[in-house]
Amino acid sequence: MDFLRLDFSRHIFRALAWGMVTLGLAMGALFPLFILVFGVPQDIAFSRSFIISTLIAGFVVGNLNFLLASRIVRPRLTRLAERMQHVRNAMQRATFSGDWSACDPADCRLEERDEDEIGAVAKSYNALLYALHDAHRIEDRIRNFTATLSSKLDLSELGDQALRLLMDLSNAQGGALILERQGEWHLLASHGLTSPAQILESPAFHTLRESPKQTRMSLPPEVSVDAILAQFKPSDVLLTPILNHGLTLGWCVLASATPFAEETPRIMPLLMNGLGLALNNALLHDDLQRVAALDPLTGIYNRRFGFKRLEEELSRAERNQSPLAAMIFDLDHFKRVNDTFGHLAGDRVLIRAAQLARDLLREGDVILRYGGEEFVIVLPGAGLQDARNVAERVRFAISQAEFPIGGDQSLKVTASIGVCATNGKQPISAEALINAADQRLYAAKASGRNRVIADESLQENTPSAH
Ligand code: GH3
Ligand code: MG
Ligand code: MG
Repeated sequence: MDFLRLDFSRHIFRALAWGMVTLGLAMGALFPLFILVFGVPQDIAFSRSFIISTLIAGFVVGNLNFLLASRIVRPRLTRLAERMQHVRNAMQRATFSGDWSACDPADCRLEERDEDEIGAVAKSYNALLYALHDAHRIEDRIRNFTATLSSKLDLSELGDQALRLLMDLSNAQGGALILERQGEWHLLASHGLTSPAQILESPAFHTLRESPKQTRMSLPPEVSVDAILAQFKPSDVLLTPILNHGLTLGWCVLASATPFAEETPRIMPLLMNGLGLALNNALLHDDLQRVAALDPLTGIYNRRFGFKRLEEELSRAERNQSPLAAMIFDLDHFKRVNDTFGHLAGDRVLIRAAQLARDLLREGDVILRYGGEEFVIVLPGAGLQDARNVAERVRFAISQAEFPIGGDQSLKVTASIGVCATNGKQPISAEALINAADQRLYAAKASGRNRVIADESLQENTPSAH
């Protein structure tokens, strides 16, 4: 602050003092000439005492003028300098502490009382203060948004949280995040919209997605904002691409009852940078998890992950005291397939058998490759009778299907199935359940193959099928 004050006194006020005093002296020197016009005799006007008096008077008036001017102007300039210096110090501290509360324009702004040049300086200073504050507020929001999302690896959790934050930041009442995966568009998250999936069908969206540029669009007629008491057509819909390294990962749709604030379309692309990065990480994580969970040959769950899913379903069944059934099926005389037609033909049979069984299951059912040519199917909510029916359908589908093995050749294959169920009331481990199903599978093999056994009365100590 001191250097600013010194600058003022050295330059402006010294110049002002010199100017005022010199002007006073000049006026004092010219005054005797001036009074001749009014008929004052020359000997009086040019008398030594009169000239000395007018010079002294000019000098005194010059000094008084200077004092008066500096009394009025100096405090206002000093105050301006002090406030600016205060904000500068506060900003310096905030840069390192992260606490910007001391830089709040409401506290640091200057009063804009006067309509003169100093008033104009105060106004410009306040405008600068608000601009800095806005820039910092926006930067802060972007940083917080990116930091909150960067730790999320679960795709749907990330989508949900990102959308909520984006709707908060933009004051939107409805919104959706659309994600592109393997050339297809999926709804990752939506909030406050009726039939949000319709956006994916909308011709407007299809045209827009060709050019990844932020735009305003109208929603398809089926989509509206779902407010508490009514549904309404939003007056403003903003569509912003989510980019990562120049690639479009998806789109963010925000819908508002009133037009968005002027800064919203400008801040969105900045927020999308953070979202793009977080989404990319979550997608990579999802891919890794998928690779770790799936059997590379058949594309169904592998034993390790499938067992984890079985354990989850079992504990859910126990919690809800609801039934759950499991079956294990094994292809009959599969060794012969390999021995006769080769391992590659065997692989094709395995892929097709897994696909046939999978196609017969409902959403929520779990199928996993348990071993070489053994598969486990978990049916949450199913009792023994339901499971027996499903097993019968699987057995029948396999026995009826043609299994192409390359060229024009195809095979017929059968499977034996052991089924077991729990009512969810007595706790049972995944191993014990599979073991029980395995014993029934052994019985199915022993009694002629290509059959389902779901017999409750089977002995626990029956030897295993493998
Ligand atoms: P059963 O009716 O008693 O089940 O007779 P099986 O010949 O099917 O019995 P077994 O379980 O002894 O044979 C399983 C065969 O499955 C042995 C193995 O070569 C084959 N196999 C295991 N994994 C794979 C695989 O990934 N690909 C191929 N092609 N064959 C596999
Ligand atoms: Mg077999
Ligand atoms: Mg086997």
